[in-house]
Amino acid sequence: MNILLIGAPGTGKGTMSELLVKNYGLVHIATGDILRQSIKEGTEVGKKAQSYIEKGLLVPDEVIHDIIVERLKKDDVQKGFLMDGYPRNLEQAKDFDKILEEVGTDIDLVVLMELDEAILADRITGRRICKDCGQIYHVVNKPSKVEGQCDNCGGELYTRKDDTLASLKTRLDEYHHATMPIIEFYQNKGLLKHVNAALGKDEVYAAIVKLMEESNDQH
Ligand code: ADP
Repeated sequence: MNILLIGAPGTGKGTMSELLVKNYGLVHIATGDILRQSIKEGTEVGKKAQSYIEKGLLVPDEVIHDIIVERLKKDDVQKGFLMDGYPRNLEQAKDFDKILEEVGTDIDLVVLMELDEAILADRITGRRICKDCGQIYHVVNKPSKVEGQCDNCGGELYTRKDDTLASLKTRLDEYHHATMPIIEFYQNKGLLKHVNAALGKDEVYAAIVKLMEESNDQH
């Protein structure tokens, strides 16, 4: 099964991805994670992306196109993929259709995670991530046992450079202007389903699983 997760920053796409990947063996493709890794490694892609990411702006479409094409070449995507943070605008969504046609696969389900914007700021500014294993924490909602240290691997926790209020504002503007038009695009294809992302983690997860089962029954 191939799934897209769409939602504003802070709606919990990363957290849901962790659970879906663990329980369903889907391949997690998060363009944000790939870009941050590229920056860390100092690759050409990383150099092109860095200034955009730090400001909260979208990275140019051609950079993203190459990342997706490369990633879909790997054999593991046959297990089904979970796209997290892509496509991010109408051009990417249309381009993705072409890429999928070339690869010979399709999207089964698009999940839109909806959340009140007042909650987003709190989720984003309190987010901490393990620099070694990528586990996500929150200083209030999901603190690590030892402050600043990952429960899983003992790695150091860090705050993403773009998890500031100023950058969040730009990311939300980008979401409204660039990403929201793809909602209608997938709605018209009959693929879009809504999930209330304000619910607890287990309830949001259960809602997504239900949508996956319904989508499976239709295919
Ligand atoms: P969030 O959803 O919390 O903003 P992501 O990790 O998905 O976090 O994205 C972080 C940043 O990476 C974005 O603000 C943007 O600069 C860049 N980015 C990620 N995915 C894309 C994409 N598909 N197109 C353009 N830029 C992207």
